Amino acid sequence: MGPNKLKPESIAAQALGWVDEKTKSVVEPIYISTTFIRDPDNQYRSGRVYGRDQNPTYDQAEAVLTALEGGHASLLFASGMAAATAVFQALMPGDHVLAPKVMYWSLRNWLKNFATQWGLQIDFIDMNSPDAVRAAIKPGKTKLIWIETPANPLWTITDIALTCEIAHANGAIVAVDSTVATPVLSQPLKLGADIVMHAATKYLNGHSDVIAGTLTTREDNAYWQRVRTIRAQLGGVLGPFEAFLLTRGMRTLYPRVRTACASAQKIAEYFAGHALVAEVLYPGLPSFAGHAVAAKQMTGGFGGMMSIRVKGSTSDGSSTINGGAAAIATAACVQLWKRATSLGGVESLIEHRASVEGAGTPAPADLLRLSVGIEDADDLIADLEQALTKATK
Ligand SMILES: *Cc1c(COP(=O)(O)O)cnc(C)c1O
Repeated sequence: MGPNKLKPESIAAQALGWVDEKTKSVVEPIYISTTFIRDPDNQYRSGRVYGRDQNPTYDQAEAVLTALEGGHASLLFASGMAAATAVFQALMPGDHVLAPKVMYWSLRNWLKNFATQWGLQIDFIDMNSPDAVRAAIKPGKTKLIWIETPANPLWTITDIALTCEIAHANGAIVAVDSTVATPVLSQPLKLGADIVMHAATKYLNGHSDVIAGTLTTREDNAYWQRVRTIRAQLGGVLGPFEAFLLTRGMRTLYPRVRTACASAQKIAEYFAGHALVAEVLYPGLPSFAGHAVAAKQMTGGFGGMMSIRVKGSTSDGSSTINGGAAAIATAACVQLWKRATSLGGVESLIEHRASVEGAGTPAPADLLRLSVGIEDADDLIADLEQALTKATK
């Protein structure tokens, strides 16, 4: 059976079933050469000249991801930020861009402080509202709409298909940061998006031991060729060992994400309405604002990311500290959850987001971001419960 007929689980598990021709090994070798032999007649029939953007170790990771996203081609980058910024660097000075108010904070900072200085015009809007998108578009000037869904750290949901319809009707392309959804839960290119970006550091690699980023395009075009050139010439490339680890990580992507989703759903339902929790932000809860759109465009689960807002003072008066202090104290009291930034690894992480993002964050002071790993869900619930109790005593 050709790879096109196989289910994505099978494609990922065998990383497309590539076998090394020379040794018949079922794991492809790591190529560390930086340069490639030129033919005697001065040609490069191998197709490879120099290792900066032509390392053969990239090929398998890029091919697997392209298959999982249903795209035309993918590129690995040195980090999620290197991948994301390449999307904007491929635009022209004066081009207008729409980005969400709620998005990965480091990219928002770069857009605000650097991209604008290089001539991009950027409006940060409420991307959950199609009317806000329509109103902000400048026909002929708006070249790109950047979406993140579910979006850090409130997990707001953007309707990908609808946003693409609006963008394309006005001559703009759509790029989606799909780090949190992963190709397991959503394939933005099939919903009309032009580019999908991943911080492969997170779920794609999944083991908190590689920094990497990816872009996948729906079609080959002049814009994609500019992105390719940016990677080759700015040189934000991945090392061969990291590329190998990323391929290895993606082999277990489906079971990891499915386990995290199931546990996250259980944890969200447990703490929704809990006496010490003011609110649970999770797209899988029917009460969540973006739930209906999430249910439409995500299949098989709502992701492993959620946030809880910690209630400080309790109604019986046994605790009087404010929510922000209670949230920080809760993070200090966990034992199984690890108090660290990042997300998408096999180990569960907890983080007080307002402390990280600083001024301009949409995260309220009482918010804790949870990245649910693949530990036992009841163990995770019990640990969070004891931390909340201890923190608000
Ligand atoms: C981590 C992250 C990024 C940036 O990726 P790096 O590999 O850390 O550069 C971008 N978007 C989202 C949603 C992320 O979680």
